[in-house]
Amino acid sequence: MTIPFVSLVNQHQQIRTEMENAFRQTMEGGQFVLGSAVNEFEKEYAAFNETPYCVSVGNGLDALICALMTIGIKAGDEVIVPSHTCYATWLAVDKVGATPVPVEVHESTFTVDENRIESSITARTKAILPVHLYGYPCRMDRIMEIAKAHGLCVVEDNAQAHGARFQNRLTGSWGDVNATSFYPTKNLGALGDGGAVTTHHQEFAEFIQSYRNYGAVTKDVFSMTGINSRLDELQASLLRIKLRYVNQWNEQRRSMATYYHQLLQSVGDISLPSLGDDDAHPVFHLYVIRTNHRNALQKFLNEQGIGTAIHYPVAVHQQKAFEKLNFKMGSLPVAEKLSNTILSLPIWPGLTREDQERVAATIKTFFDHL
Ligand SMILES: *Cc1c(COP(=O)(O)O)cnc(C)c1O
Repeated sequence: MTIPFVSLVNQHQQIRTEMENAFRQTMEGGQFVLGSAVNEFEKEYAAFNETPYCVSVGNGLDALICALMTIGIKAGDEVIVPSHTCYATWLAVDKVGATPVPVEVHESTFTVDENRIESSITARTKAILPVHLYGYPCRMDRIMEIAKAHGLCVVEDNAQAHGARFQNRLTGSWGDVNATSFYPTKNLGALGDGGAVTTHHQEFAEFIQSYRNYGAVTKDVFSMTGINSRLDELQASLLRIKLRYVNQWNEQRRSMATYYHQLLQSVGDISLPSLGDDDAHPVFHLYVIRTNHRNALQKFLNEQGIGTAIHYPVAVHQQKAFEKLNFKMGSLPVAEKLSNTILSLPIWPGLTREDQERVAATIKTFFDHL
């Protein structure tokens, strides 16, 4: 029996009838884009996220781009990003013409090191873009203070952290305007692409409602040159169903992380991810360990039928696409080291304790024979 790195089979079995009804209703409903399911989902996600406004878009990258556009980020501006993140975070900054300025992350939580942000602020800095990577919340209290002191906007990248909290306040509800993704494997995922922006500001929500739909004010009247990035009715209906389960699934992820933590204590040279603290309530989109034997361990697990993944194997500043930023090897040592040592273990609703025990036992065998 193999243990896949990720599987949605259990999740979908649990809500199969509801999903089949949604497929049928969408097919028979006759409205496929920007209809009532999208409206309802936006209201429900805004309530879930504890923000007054939610505007859905086609994917997480577009959500980030819309968020940066609405606060006026443009060519010549700088945006502070984490050195270790998904490529899409930096890509969004580049797409609006601005320059991503990386700040190194904490190795134990993989989130931006708030103590290093201020030394990266220049006269061109316009915004800070913290990423709640792997579902672990950034220190938002400090980040908001720094932004305020320097007159900067904050855009949270909440694509991996639906339902996470910092100081009992949801991630994706702190910043001026925040982006998330509903890519299928995210903690809240569609059966295709999807994304959303959340905000406390009506004018930002209204801008994005127009911008995502060509820049339309009303049908056939255009006030700006927008894009086409609309969530469709089918994905919205499926997301409405899954939204009712996401807290339950997050609790399962948290208890799996706690169990891995027990099982993998003092195995080889492994460093385990933080389980959180009084302030940080993570939701474990991913469970990421660190080891100097990463490639060999991944190969061994794969041979034993255990799927793993690497998020991400090449640091963003070392991607060819960002050669233009002129980073030299060694310029972001934490990000470079993480890209060579991190390994994501299976963690998904439906993974059993026996599965986790087998993953841990196989890792122990690997280190016993090293
Ligand atoms: C998935 C993800 C994105 C991009 O979302 P898409 O829907 O794939 O465009 C952005 N940032 C982070 C941190 C992500 O994990």
